[in-house]
Amino acid sequence: MLAVPAAFSFIVTIDGPAGTGKSTVANSLAKRLGLEFLDTGAMYRAAALEALDLGIDPADGARVTALMRGLDLAFDWKRDPPELFVNGRPVGDRIRTPEVTRAVSLVASNPSVRNEMVRAQRLIAARHPRLVTEGRDQGSVVFPDADVRIYLDARPEIRARRRVEQLATKGIVTTEAEVLAQILERDRIDSTRADGPLICPNGAAIVDTSDTDVPEVIDRLAEIVRIRAGEALAAGDAGRRGNSASGGAHGS
Ligand code: C5P
Repeated sequence: MLAVPAAFSFIVTIDGPAGTGKSTVANSLAKRLGLEFLDTGAMYRAAALEALDLGIDPADGARVTALMRGLDLAFDWKRDPPELFVNGRPVGDRIRTPEVTRAVSLVASNPSVRNEMVRAQRLIAARHPRLVTEGRDQGSVVFPDADVRIYLDARPEIRARRRVEQLATKGIVTTEAEVLAQILERDRIDSTRADGPLICPNGAAIVDTSDTDVPEVIDRLAEIVRIRAGEALAAGDAGRRGNSASGGAHGS
């Protein structure tokens, strides 16, 4: 089994559209490698949830940004998966409701909100420099010098089917057609925004998960990390950065 030596800071980024299995895979990969797992989608979802709770229009950039500046987003790393707390309160599954899912891309398309999130994520990485982090902009914007960058993809119908099954486990009943329409709309907003759009990061390994089950995807990613980590560790890149996990990209 591959584990990144404890003395090294080490960042693996996993980006990709909704329903590619990023969270599940990133959490398992982190455990296998002896790293921590950062779910950045949960952070955007928490901002969207707070806006909805306070009756703020998710598309109202100025108000959402002001709200965001007053939010303390912190993970309890002892839980599996790490649990997100907003201003000291656990958010739980409330960030996964269809209402929040509809609102989140609007919140995430605001450049000032993204600035705040990027800063918060780099701060987390400064304290937890051994991370598997997943989202839409992790390898392209937040940690462009990450040791390993991965881009997960899958066919839209497959992503919709997975999301329906995932929602069913939470007691939320919906149809594949409905979820497919939402996923395509979310992909459109996420990929076309001016700031931090969903793109395949430079130098990322692209993995299509359409016809591969979760354990197999994790095996493939572990193999990619093994090869690329070997190169990074041999070149001294990972260790040399010490606690500056993003290779100088920290804003604070
Ligand atoms: O991954 P998840 O579906 O939880 O992400 C929810 C939303 O948060 C995405 O559709 C996207 O709009 C936004 N997001 C983002 N950048 C990230 C992570 C998530 O814009 N790094």
